[in-house]
Amino acid sequence: MTTCTQCSAPFKITNDDLAFYEKVSPVLAGKKYLIPPPTLCPPCRAQRRLAFRNERCLYHRKSDLSGKQIITMYAANTPFKVYDQKEWWGDGWDGLTFGREVDWSRPFFDQFKELLFAAPKISMINKEHQNSEYSNFALWNKNSYMLFTSGGCEDSFYSNRSTRSKNICDCSSAIDCELCYEIVDCNKCYACAWMQNCEGCHDCVLGYDLRSCKNCFACFGLQNAQYCIGNKKVSKEEYERLLPGLRANFADMKAKFEKHKVELPRKYMHGFGNEGCTGNAIQHSKNARECYEVSEVQDCTFVSNVTSIKDAYDVNNDDNSELVYEAVGSESNSMHCFNDICWFDRDVLYSNLCFHSKNLFGCCSLKHKQYCILNKQYSKEEYEALVPKIIEHMKQTSEWGEFFTPTISPFGFNETVGMENYALTKEEALKRGWKWTDEDESREKYLGPAVDIPSRIEDTDDVICQKILTCEVTGRAYKIIPQELALYRTMKIPIPHKCPEQRHKERMAMRNPRKLWSRTCMKCNTAIQTTYAPDRPEKIYCEECYLKEVY
Ligand SMILES: [Zn+2]
Ligand SMILES: [Zn+2]
Repeated sequence: MTTCTQCSAPFKITNDDLAFYEKVSPVLAGKKYLIPPPTLCPPCRAQRRLAFRNERCLYHRKSDLSGKQIITMYAANTPFKVYDQKEWWGDGWDGLTFGREVDWSRPFFDQFKELLFAAPKISMINKEHQNSEYSNFALWNKNSYMLFTSGGCEDSFYSNRSTRSKNICDCSSAIDCELCYEIVDCNKCYACAWMQNCEGCHDCVLGYDLRSCKNCFACFGLQNAQYCIGNKKVSKEEYERLLPGLRANFADMKAKFEKHKVELPRKYMHGFGNEGCTGNAIQHSKNARECYEVSEVQDCTFVSNVTSIKDAYDVNNDDNSELVYEAVGSESNSMHCFNDICWFDRDVLYSNLCFHSKNLFGCCSLKHKQYCILNKQYSKEEYEALVPKIIEHMKQTSEWGEFFTPTISPFGFNETVGMENYALTKEEALKRGWKWTDEDESREKYLGPAVDIPSRIEDTDDVICQKILTCEVTGRAYKIIPQELALYRTMKIPIPHKCPEQRHKERMAMRNPRKLWSRTCMKCNTAIQTTYAPDRPEKIYCEECYLKEVY
C-alpha cells in the first residue's frame, strides 16, 4: 500500500499499473524514460486534473487580438490573452513567438506557468455550431443554448454530456433523445420527463431504470410496460383519465416516487453490455476498472466521461484515443501523458491547448508543430537530447510523473468540474494554494420586485421571458428564454422556480459518488463492488438477483 501525499489515504499500485506506466513512458532516441508510479490516490489525481476544466462558467470579455466582444470560459479580470475562437484557429499569430529556453535553476512547472499565462487562450471550444454561441466543449450543435460537453444537438438548452438529441432541456447524459426534460443517463427516450437510467421509453414521466416502456407514470424497474402508474397496470382509459390529476399534483407525486424509489432493490451498478467492469454508468465496455460514465472503453482504469478509448489510465473527457495517461479534455491522441485540452496529437507531454502536433514537451497553444519544448523549435536530434535532461531535472524537483499542480490552473477551483465530483470549500482550496473565483454579487443577485410564476404552464404568458426571476434556492437572477418556454408548453411542464445552475447541481447530485465500496448482494451474499455506500438505505442486489426480482 502507498499513502497519498495529499489526503493520506492508502492506495494500491498493482503490477498491471506498473506495466501500464512503462507502456506509456516516452522513448527518445531509442531509450525509454520510465514514468514513475503516482504519489496521489486516484480521487486526488482526478480532482487535480479536473481543476483545469471549466465547462460551464462563461464570461463576456474582449478578444485580445481584435478587440471583438467575445464569450469565453476565462473571466474578464484574468491575466491571460484570450482570442476569439476563429482568430485563435487562424494564421494571424504563431505560438512559437512565445518560445523560451529551459532555465535549469528553477522548477519546470514555474517555467511552464509563465508560458501558460503568456500564450493566447482560445475563448472556448465550440466547433461548427449554428446559432449556439453560448456552449462550451461543444461540437455540431444547432439552435441551442447553454450546452456543455455536448455534440450534435438541436433546439436544446441547459444540458450537459448530451449527444444527438433534439428539443431537450435540463438533461444530463441524454443520448439520442427527443422532447425530453430533466433526464439523467438516458438513451433513446422520446417525450419523457424526470427519468434516470432509462432506455427506449416513450411518453413516461417520473421513471427509474425503465426499458422500452410507454405511458408510465412514477414507475421503477420495468421492461416493455405500458399504462402503469406507480408500477401498477391500469387500462388505457384509466391512465388517460388519471394523468391530468397526477400532473396537477406533481410535487406530491414526485415526493412519493422518491420515497418509493428508496424502498425498491437497486442493481449494484448502472450499465449494460459490459465485461469485467467496475465503477458506474458504463456501457458496452471491457475491462474498465473504476470507471464512471463511460462507453465503448477497453482496458481502462480510473477513467470518466469518455467514449471509445483504449488502454488508458487517469483520463477525463476524452474520445477516440489510446495509450493516454493523466489527461483531461483530449481527443484522438496516442502516447499522450500529462496534457490539458490537446487533440489529434502523438507523443505530446506536459502541454496545454496543442492540436495536430507531434513530439511536444511543455508547450502551450500550438497547432501543427513538431519537436518543440516550451514553444521553442528544435531539430529532432536536439529535441531527443534535451527532453531526457528535462526529465532528469523534473525528477530532482519531484515534478516528473505528476500532472500540473492546480496552483497554476487558469481557473478558480469552484469554476471547474473538479467541484462537481470532488468538492472543496473555499478555505480548503485556498489552503492548498488553489484559486477561487468570487461571484460578482451585483451580477448574480437581483433585488427588483419578485415575479409570480404561474403554477400551470397553461396560465403562463409570453411576457415571462422578459421578466427577471429569482431562484428560490440561491436567490440568483435567471430568465426563461422563448425557445425554452415553447418546449415547456409542448411538454405541459410548468416554469422552473430554480435557476439553471441550481437545476444542474440537483441533477448531478442524483448520481452516486465516484467511489467504490466492497459489499455483498443483500439477497445472495455474492461479493460486489458498488458506488452505494454501506450505510445507504437502498437494498443493493447483484445483477442476477436484481433481474430476477425486478424485471
Ligand atoms: Zn488522496
Ligand atoms: Zn445476488
